[in-house]
Amino acid sequence: MFTIPDAHMRSPTLRTPLSPALTRVWTTAQVSALIVTVLVLVGLLFRPELTLRLAWYGIVPLLPATFLINAGLWRGVCPIATANTIWPNSERIPGERWMQTAFILGMVLLLILVPMRRLVLNVNGPVLAVTLVLIVAAALVLGAIYRTKAGFCNSLCPILPVEKLYGQSPLVWIQNPRCLPCDNCSTRGCLDLNPSAAPAQPRGPGSTRSWLKTPMGVFAMAFPGLVLGYFQLSDGAMGDWLTVYGLIGGYVLASYALLAGMAFLLNPDARVLAPISGALAVGIYYWYAAPASIDAFGGSAVAGEILRWLLLAFIALWLLRALRPEGGSAPAHAQGG
Ligand code: SF4
Repeated sequence: MFTIPDAHMRSPTLRTPLSPALTRVWTTAQVSALIVTVLVLVGLLFRPELTLRLAWYGIVPLLPATFLINAGLWRGVCPIATANTIWPNSERIPGERWMQTAFILGMVLLLILVPMRRLVLNVNGPVLAVTLVLIVAAALVLGAIYRTKAGFCNSLCPILPVEKLYGQSPLVWIQNPRCLPCDNCSTRGCLDLNPSAAPAQPRGPGSTRSWLKTPMGVFAMAFPGLVLGYFQLSDGAMGDWLTVYGLIGGYVLASYALLAGMAFLLNPDARVLAPISGALAVGIYYWYAAPASIDAFGGSAVAGEILRWLLLAFIALWLLRALRPEGGSAPAHAQGG
């Protein structure tokens, strides 16, 4: 199932069909993910307190680490991606402008949804259930219109920028079962096709400063602030929306100003910037989320500290590996993002 890749190589395998045994494994995983999703939706309506704890402190904190291993682990089973790809394949491919606009809209959606966790989504099961259903419905409709993952997973999905940032240097290669064979549904920056090119890392002299002005460059510099800002707040009420959006928005702006300003002045080797930003964001996330998850399930403070430092060590190893010299080049149609 897995092969150990050289950092920055592109997937060599998206034209090779999966073996019947692997197909069964993926199908089982996808059906299981769908069943878990239905159970979560039912739980959010009828046992909201327990389900919210399991979702926010049990399931969600697993995702960033799996993105570092390979974002395809999640993309291969994600129930929203299943909704997006469940239809007979459409011939229609959106234009580059639509893809770029949808990618930016996805970032804006993430910027809205993360603070909304503090206002309502962390504590109100039915509202979270409705939000999830709306997102699945959008993926379903766009999947009926556009080919494979072009309509949602590779454009509008609010998690896509995070997957690109954390998934840029996977530790193992995984054949995404939804993309065998690749039908070129997304013309540029496909994470399944070429993880290292997906965040559109700048290449060549002077390209770092240009990249800082691209959507992915802005996101990479601002995202650590979004994560840090989120953890400076506790769960509040809808009436606090101005404080919550104002404070987190301030962190986002400060993060971009600080990181992009330093990058602009120092003009580092372009290839190192995206991995450092990814490691910074995921490091901040686990600094707070690891002890919180242990605490949510009655674990001790010591266990929380141990998990925190184990995850930080894992992130440091991921970063060291991501910073190794480039081992492969991206195909032309996979460049960009
Ligand atoms: S271009 Fe489309 S079909 Fe090809 S690997 Fe990417 S998502 Fe899959």
